[in-house]
Amino acid sequence: MATHPGGLTGTRTVRVSGLRRGFGTRTVLDGLDLEIGAGEFVALLGRSGSGKSTLLRALAGLDRDVAGTGLIDVPEQSSVVFQDARLLPWQRVLDNVVLGLRGPDAPRRGRAALAEVGLAGREQAWPHQLSGGEQQRVALARALVSEPELLLADEPFGALDALTRLRMHDLLRELCARHRPAVLLVTHDVDEAVTLADRVLVIDQGRITVDTAIDLPAPRSHRQPQFLAYRE
Ligand code: ADP
Ligand code: MG
Repeated sequence: MATHPGGLTGTRTVRVSGLRRGFGTRTVLDGLDLEIGAGEFVALLGRSGSGKSTLLRALAGLDRDVAGTGLIDVPEQSSVVFQDARLLPWQRVLDNVVLGLRGPDAPRRGRAALAEVGLAGREQAWPHQLSGGEQQRVALARALVSEPELLLADEPFGALDALTRLRMHDLLRELCARHRPAVLLVTHDVDEAVTLADRVLVIDQGRITVDTAIDLPAPRSHRQPQFLAYRE
């Protein structure tokens, strides 16, 4: 396996070895190896059709047909965010966030999660009353309210305009600093990968072919331009 220059130390949240997945005669994941450390933020780049979503679905437990042997350690406690927020249109915002929660404190936790993504006061709104960026904020709140060990995100900001996307970077960075899930962010935006991640991977021909630690001089929280500080 490609070992990344940062030298993955400490606890691993994800350990995948020799993962295979094909569709018919087409091999998509061809003995793929991957490790993600606890709390590590990893970005995954790759050409369209290279298998990024296939890998993410396997890690999320959404692919019943993936050869199980390659998934050595994958946490049961994981959450997924897709490009479209996938909110239930007939459920109010708060109900969407607490859907997977049990227990009497679910509404309180849901409200706290919405406040964290900047949507305090919008608990009783319907999804269609929110902008695309706001809907993705709800999706992030729903993903993190269960305090998952692993956050999987499949081009989560791909459908947003450039300024909203930058604001979402800021938000995701903040949320991850607070909750410290391991993150696998699929993106085809190289800038997004480098700005947000501790480590950038490239998938090609069914395997991880590039594995690079990102070690920029400024802390990530200081990389955002000042104009992003203003809010709508
Ligand atoms: P990426 O997310 O990197 O764009 P995907 O993982 O979605 O790529 O797809 C990788 C390859 O697997 C593509 O050739 C795609 O057509 C194929 N593929 C993905 N899912 C299925 C499926 N359910 N049935 C058949 N082929 C699929
Ligand atoms: Mg995809």
